[in-house]
Amino acid sequence: MPIKCFFLLLIVCLYPGGAFALDDSQTRVVGIFDSETSRNPIGVREVYGAELNVINHYISNLGSTATTFNIVTPDAAPTSIQINTQELVQRALAMWTPAEFTFNSIAGYPERGRRGILIELVDIPTDESLAWTIFNNMGTTGQTRIRVNRSFIEQHGESAYRMALYNHSIDAGISLRSYIEMLFFNTILHEVGHGLGLTHPLLNGQFDSNNNYCRTIVPASITQKSPTIMLDGATQGQSYFGVQAGVLGRGITIDDIRPSTSDIAGARIMYRGGAYSLWHIDVEAP
Ligand SMILES: [Zn+2]
Repeated sequence: MPIKCFFLLLIVCLYPGGAFALDDSQTRVVGIFDSETSRNPIGVREVYGAELNVINHYISNLGSTATTFNIVTPDAAPTSIQINTQELVQRALAMWTPAEFTFNSIAGYPERGRRGILIELVDIPTDESLAWTIFNNMGTTGQTRIRVNRSFIEQHGESAYRMALYNHSIDAGISLRSYIEMLFFNTILHEVGHGLGLTHPLLNGQFDSNNNYCRTIVPASITQKSPTIMLDGATQGQSYFGVQAGVLGRGITIDDIRPSTSDIAGARIMYRGGAYSLWHIDVEAP
C-alpha cells in the first residue's frame, strides 16, 4: 500500500489568526528504518545508488510548458487553469538538494529496474486522495513512484481555495491559479520527502502503510522554528498552509513553502543510512 496523502489536509486548515507556538509533532522529522529493532535508517543512497550523490528522476507526463487543470466551480463551467508543472517540480527538487545529493533528470518512461524517482500526473476521479508515493516499490527495486491525482485537485481545488482565503491561511491576494500552483508545489515537496525516506511525524514508533518501521531522526528540540513539510494534515487536523500561516502570523504565499532545516537534515540522514549520530549533523541552532 502506498503512503497516501489526502486532500482533507487542505480543507481542514485550522488557523485561529495570530502567531502560535508549534508542538513537537509539527516539527520533528521521522524516517523509515531497516526494521523495528534496527537503529539504522534506510540508506537512500543505496536504494537509488547508481551514481554517487545523484538521484535520477523521471517526469512522466507533466507538460513541458503548461499543464491544464479544469477546476470545478459550484456555479459555472469549469475554470481552465494552466500551470507550469515541470518548472514547479524542478523548483521543489532543488529545495531538497542542500541535503548533499543532486537530482538528475532522465527523459522517457523508466524501465523496470532503472533506479530513480518517477513523478507522474494521474486522473483517477474515484480516488479520494490528492497524491501518493510508493517508496522503493517492491518488484521494481530502487524505483519510487510519486503520483499526483489531478482529478482530485480539479474537483476540490476551488472549495479548498475559498476555505484557505476564509481562514487567512493564504495571503488575501492569492488568485485561484496561484493557489493551485501552491497546492501542486507543496504536494511535490512533500511526496519527494517520502521518496527520500521521510514519513509523517505522527508515525513515530509505528509502521507505515508500506510496512516500514518509522522513528524520529531529527527531534523537535533541534529546531522549533518551522513546521516539517512532512506534516500530515489528514491525521493531524492541520495543513502545512495553516500551520505555516500560524508560525508567520499571516497568510502564506508560495515563497513560504519549503522543507524545514530539520527536514533537510533528515533527508541527509536518510541518504547516508547506517548508524548515525545527531551530533554529527549540521543543524542550525534554534
Ligand atoms: Zn504524505
